[in-house]
Amino acid sequence: GVVTAQPTPEDRTPDIVSLRPERFEDYVGQNATVETLKIAIQAAKLRNEPLDHILLHGPPGLGKTTICHIIANEMGKDLTITSGPTLEKGGDLMGILTHLADGEFLFIDEIHRIPKVVEEFLYPAMEDFAVDFVFDKGIHARSHRYRLRRFVLVGATTRVGLLSSPLRDRFGLFRTLDFYTPEELVVIIHRSARLLETQITKDGAMSLAKRSRGTPRIANRLLKRVRDFAQVRSDGRVTRETVQAALALEGIDHLGLTRLDRSYLETIIDFYHGGPVGIEAIAATLQEETDTLVDVVEPFLLKIGLVLRTSSGRKASNPAYQHLNKVPEETSR
Ligand code: ADP
Repeated sequence: GVVTAQPTPEDRTPDIVSLRPERFEDYVGQNATVETLKIAIQAAKLRNEPLDHILLHGPPGLGKTTICHIIANEMGKDLTITSGPTLEKGGDLMGILTHLADGEFLFIDEIHRIPKVVEEFLYPAMEDFAVDFVFDKGIHARSHRYRLRRFVLVGATTRVGLLSSPLRDRFGLFRTLDFYTPEELVVIIHRSARLLETQITKDGAMSLAKRSRGTPRIANRLLKRVRDFAQVRSDGRVTRETVQAALALEGIDHLGLTRLDRSYLETIIDFYHGGPVGIEAIAATLQEETDTLVDVVEPFLLKIGLVLRTSSGRKASNPAYQHLNKVPEETSR
């Protein structure tokens, strides 16, 4: 079972079909990571020991939470889910840790956002399965060590660089998830369509996959939009034509870029002559959170080579100009 300390958007609507795979057989792609985890799981089972703590890194929607669910399932243990920003005080974490039984899982999403005071609680918890309470203050201060059961921490982060090294070093397993290929997304889309009882053609699935920014969560979300469109505007079958028409309405172009992606590129090109320009300046011009740009917008644009990161800032690449039908300035190249 899953205890949700903080509901994820998908968990808030339990009446809809869950598209989240529950076993490795249904988890598409990320082969090296899956292989590493399967070996660790089997070894832990053979030795009858809990798993090492696991750190998963990568952009949102690539399957970090899903992997954690699957691992807990495979080990036959409960999973408690929380996130960095909701753990405000040491006590918040203490309350969760003291309730975990042997081998149970704690998933902390956005672990790079836990406050420093909470992080310090986590060190002895991860390493020695103990936490230190401090009573009173000053010369009367006494501390008491409280033993915890051998839980397994799974941390997820979009920004591993923001993790302190003492925290990072306490994870025995560390993996970065990659964007998915269109072929992998096609498999995910067909499975989701089956669960949603929607018919989709091969072409339809491929054209949706190519517009999903390499991200399963986006593929599933767009599939639902396209399915609505197909039901209302045609015979309910999702084809290449319905995908294209429905996604044009959503402002998604043939590379899968959203309006925000294009505004980001246009800002660099029109406002900063193609760059290099610092991320803070782009964020200020766009009136957007820097974190959103760094976590959500940039990883995919970097991956497909539309933006380049240099020591002096972000630059738009030639393909970015082509994609937006713009002509590079002669002087700057
Ligand atoms: P993250 O925790 O990295 O933000 P999630 O694990 O919440 O991402 O994944 C988002 C959704 O995408 C899941 O609910 C699931 O439906 C789907 N998904 C993610 N990874 C996979 C995968 N490898 N195979 C199939 N579906 C996936």
